[in-house]
Amino acid sequence: MLSLATPVSDLSSIAAKNKSQLKRLGITNIRELLWHLPIRWEDFSHIVNIADVSPESRVVVVAKIHSVAARRGWRSKKHLTEAIIEDGTGKMKAVWFNQPYLTKVLASGKTFYLAGKVVDYYGLTLSNPIFERFDAKTKSLHFVGLTPIYPATEKLTQKQLRFLVKTALDKKPAVIEHLPKEYTAKECLMSLPEAVENIHFPEDNKKLKQAIYRLKFEELWQIYYKSRAVREKLAELPAYPIATEKSVIKEFLKTLPYTLTAEQRRALFEILKDIREPHPMNRLLEGEVGSGKTVVAAAAIFEAVRSGYQAAFMAPTEILARQHFATFKSLFLSFDITTGLLTRNYHEVVKRGSIESPTSATLKKGITLGDIDVIIGTHALIQKSVVFKKLALSIVDEQHRFGVRQRAELTRRNKEMPMPHFLSLTATPIPRTYAQLLYGGLDISILEEMPPGRKKIVTRIVGRKEAVEIYEFIRRGIGKGRQLYVICPLIMESDMLGFQAVTTEEQKLKKIFTKEKVGILHGRMSGSAKEKAMEDFSKGRTDILISTAVVEVGIDVPNASLMMIESPERFGLSQLHQFRGRIGRGEHQSYCFLMIGTEETVNKRLQALEKTESGFKLSEIDLKTRGPGEFYGIKQSGFLNLKIASLADVEILQKIRHLEAQLPSGASR
Ligand code: ADP
Ligand code: MG
Repeated sequence: MLSLATPVSDLSSIAAKNKSQLKRLGITNIRELLWHLPIRWEDFSHIVNIADVSPESRVVVVAKIHSVAARRGWRSKKHLTEAIIEDGTGKMKAVWFNQPYLTKVLASGKTFYLAGKVVDYYGLTLSNPIFERFDAKTKSLHFVGLTPIYPATEKLTQKQLRFLVKTALDKKPAVIEHLPKEYTAKECLMSLPEAVENIHFPEDNKKLKQAIYRLKFEELWQIYYKSRAVREKLAELPAYPIATEKSVIKEFLKTLPYTLTAEQRRALFEILKDIREPHPMNRLLEGEVGSGKTVVAAAAIFEAVRSGYQAAFMAPTEILARQHFATFKSLFLSFDITTGLLTRNYHEVVKRGSIESPTSATLKKGITLGDIDVIIGTHALIQKSVVFKKLALSIVDEQHRFGVRQRAELTRRNKEMPMPHFLSLTATPIPRTYAQLLYGGLDISILEEMPPGRKKIVTRIVGRKEAVEIYEFIRRGIGKGRQLYVICPLIMESDMLGFQAVTTEEQKLKKIFTKEKVGILHGRMSGSAKEKAMEDFSKGRTDILISTAVVEVGIDVPNASLMMIESPERFGLSQLHQFRGRIGRGEHQSYCFLMIGTEETVNKRLQALEKTESGFKLSEIDLKTRGPGEFYGIKQSGFLNLKIASLADVEILQKIRHLEAQLPSGASR
């Protein structure tokens, strides 16, 4: 039996040769190969006679190459390979673009399976068909029934992926059923090994459906089961009970320049109720950008510190950590609370508004001695050298930006020490019904309303034709002193850090905005270069900041009231909405322009963004319209890393919940 942990390169020489390409797809071992699921399946079950082929249909034919020739297109100058194919009932053309080597592969007289779309191009033509040598003796891997189409790379083809998956399946991988038998029987579920076979090479449509259902069930059950296990484990661990006094919290709230909204108060109440317990809280505070999560977290921190404990607050980037540090500096201005900042480049301490910059060693010592009450920072907080004296509350901002292990590290403790209460903040608004079902192990507080006084952001989809007019509008805005964010998507998978995306955009915009000062922000820049770019923008030294989603953070520049998002169709609605939350923070009317790539791509999704301001509504639409097929989008959206299920599969979640409730915990699994 083939172990799922076996490195994929051990599978075959093809796998070994393509190790780095496979890695780009996230495939390093057999388990990941088997979970590299098709985006769709081509139906090759019916082979058509050439005589019966009609335009605009997708067909498979088995035909002999009558002749083949390569030439350059007279207008596009593209390489064109043209073949005449015949199958005894008739003849037709097949064309391929930019693959000059095909003349060698498609030798005259040989027979092939060919599959593709039929177009009317000076006669019926198969356009860019995929093909495989036809051999009457062996069964085709690529042209039989439902054939999987995988997310691939330019260098790793569908055929190679199919071959690898097939090879793995033939070696009997150790896919083991671990759902309780009660479930599989009650729900008439296909077995896991059968589902894995059928998701890749379905016997027929019915089996495919069952396989999809079974794997969705598997994936959601895994999440549910794990989070339930977490909850059960936490309930047994000790935590510092943070005695919460109404008068203490009032003392803090009194100093704020505003009053909390009803939802902020409710969320705070829920948190305070949890941290009073001698077992760790595990709570998620959901609220979109600008909904005021920080102050809720700060109030809880205030309680912890007032009870004599320490609190930690971890943010995904240095910029954000510094911003939080500045916020806490002013929130705790009138109290004897010592707040530290620890990042790779910054180590600072503030008390009653006065800042010192100790060495990082001194700062860490202060944490260990308990001199620092609140420590704000980046991943630097989870270094082994950071040891707390009495850490009672750990908070993670933008939790989706951290891995599970990083989050867990923040609650690391000595065996003898109580576990800190844990609060994660997220601006990804998952509607409550979904969130409750999904995060079985987590309690949830939601801020759905925004603090009063926010201005509506005007959002507009802009086509190519109107772009000039919009550039002019933006130029006038900048002339009046406003600033512009430009967000561009990653165009290539390989451009993980957004270097190419940003510099390409920069070159383009510098031609359009000749007088304005342009800054850039991408992942390949050093920490200090990023800091400087941000600083330049927030101080108004640059007018335009071009960045990718990779460096997306909750930065706050109230004077930036203009935003241009390039190719918005490449992002999820929730993510677009998050970008948009970066403007509309000041006194000026804000505008968000969605610069769509092509006219055809205007779709309902983007129109929803024009009309709706509620992040929760938008994410609901996102959930309904974006299936697991949108590989690219999901990867970028920072959403739950679901491979096949989507949050739209609420009924499955409900079933799991129901079944789990009936089963004693730890039953036959
Ligand atoms: P996020 O939820 O995105 O982290 P923040 O906590 O940064 O949002 O809050 C955004 C802004 O709203 C901050 O400037 C904060 O001072 C302000 N704010 C928070 N709560 C209120 C409130 N109840 N009334 C008015 N302004 C508020
Ligand atoms: Mg925030």
